[in-house]
Amino acid sequence: MADRFPSILLFGAPGAGKGTQGKVLAAVPGMFHHSSGEVFRDLGPDTEAGRTFMEYSNRGELVPDDVTIRVWRDNLDQQIRDGKYNPGSDLLVLDGIPRSANQARLMDQHIQVHKIVHLGCEDNEALIARLRKRAIEQNRMDDAKEEVIRRRFEVYRSETRPVLDHYSPPLIAEVNAIGTPMRVLRDILSVLVPVQEQIFHSK
Ligand code: ADP
Repeated sequence: MADRFPSILLFGAPGAGKGTQGKVLAAVPGMFHHSSGEVFRDLGPDTEAGRTFMEYSNRGELVPDDVTIRVWRDNLDQQIRDGKYNPGSDLLVLDGIPRSANQARLMDQHIQVHKIVHLGCEDNEALIARLRKRAIEQNRMDDAKEEVIRRRFEVYRSETRPVLDHYSPPLIAEVNAIGTPMRVLRDILSVLVPVQEQIFHSK
């Protein structure tokens, strides 16, 4: 298991800000942001996996684990071949994956998780308001229907939240998802800076 990718997980409910913060972190040299939702959306309707994604995401459900892990790993390998991700010097910032306890188990052979940033928010209505805004800004079908949004929160509670139980509690850092993006960013950085320095600069 020596060659597992050094990783941190951005974790939280839909609308918690994983993508927003992940994009900012991606701009910093030494960080590589990889969002499973973006990877899926880029597949397009010409591929079987792309059609599977549409089918499940339009209902607010998770794409089956085997498809998810395969698509994720294939895309990551492509990013390495393209020279965009260098596992020897970049911290992998995973956003949206693993999203079930089974995915977490399957990914143990691929990644070494150094920290989980849990963007926490108990106020689902605040998150739902963010998704409604995003539906308009980004033209996302899975954000547009109220029943699909509600289903995503239910799936988060029953399938995704248990991912946290897979990891040892000291790995989990709680960050309040409510606040300005700058404030949330500052809190995430205060968690990640020591992690990144410890992994890549203590060798
Ligand atoms: P959000 O964080 O708002 O739920 P994402 O862009 O991360 O949005 O994901 C959109 C959809 O893509 C999910 O509702 C799900 O159908 C699918 N998806 C993304 N990541 C995974 C995953 N790890 N496992 C299964 N399905 C996934």
